[in-house]
Amino acid sequence: MNLILLHADDFLNPTQVRLYGRRREHVLNIHRAAVGDDLRVGLIDGLLGHGRIFCLTDQILEMEVLLDQQPPKPLPVTLLLALPRPKMLRRIIQSVSSLGVKKIHLINSYRVDKSFWSSSLLRPEKLQEQLLLGLEQSCDTILPEIHLQPRFKPFVEDDLPGISAATTAYVAHPGTGVDFPSRLKRPTTLAIGPEGGFIPYEVEKLQNCGFIPISLGERILRVETAVPVLLSRLI
Ligand code: SAH
Repeated sequence: MNLILLHADDFLNPTQVRLYGRRREHVLNIHRAAVGDDLRVGLIDGLLGHGRIFCLTDQILEMEVLLDQQPPKPLPVTLLLALPRPKMLRRIIQSVSSLGVKKIHLINSYRVDKSFWSSSLLRPEKLQEQLLLGLEQSCDTILPEIHLQPRFKPFVEDDLPGISAATTAYVAHPGTGVDFPSRLKRPTTLAIGPEGGFIPYEVEKLQNCGFIPISLGERILRVETAVPVLLSRLI
């Protein structure tokens, strides 16, 4: 946790916050902070700044905060990610959040196991937990939005044209022959497949929607590796 993220209801008054539980314990045990120390803080969906600890007990942490800096610029990417298995989902969502992506669609694909869609991790509060961990890691405050798209065809046919409009759209698909460009820095929509890859029908449907198939070279990467490698080309 490189940033202590504050919620609106942490505020005792406009400049003072009181924290309990995980964040207090982290400050105490990892930062090893004490009264008088300064910590980086940020308000969810708001500004970044500093907090000076004025009270630290076994129950509570209180800080005087000053929020006066803008959070980092979002990555101009909309990510379509075939729903990963629950064990991986947690980490992938954290790393996507820490890389600055603000729009995420978890999509279905033929090779996504149906049972993944009933994972309790897909509950909004569980997803939010992982998104917040990513923001705390990367010192950002803007909470990404995640949309669940459990039906591939209607999503691609009805919603995707609007979502990818005015962006350059790519589908990452090993062996397509076209290398993924670097340093794009322009609005992009990027589709990443499941562990088993997209099936040809899905790549075709995405191509019909304007997506360009791209490759990262001969090596086939695990999804959790492919995601940061692909996103790092867009930074
Ligand atoms: N089993 C599949 C690979 C799936 S890898 C196959 O053999 O084709 C999981 C996802 O990560 C892919 O759908 C793709 O979106 C991305 N990916 C992994 N390695 C890649 C590479 N070398 N080029 C482009 N995308 C890649």
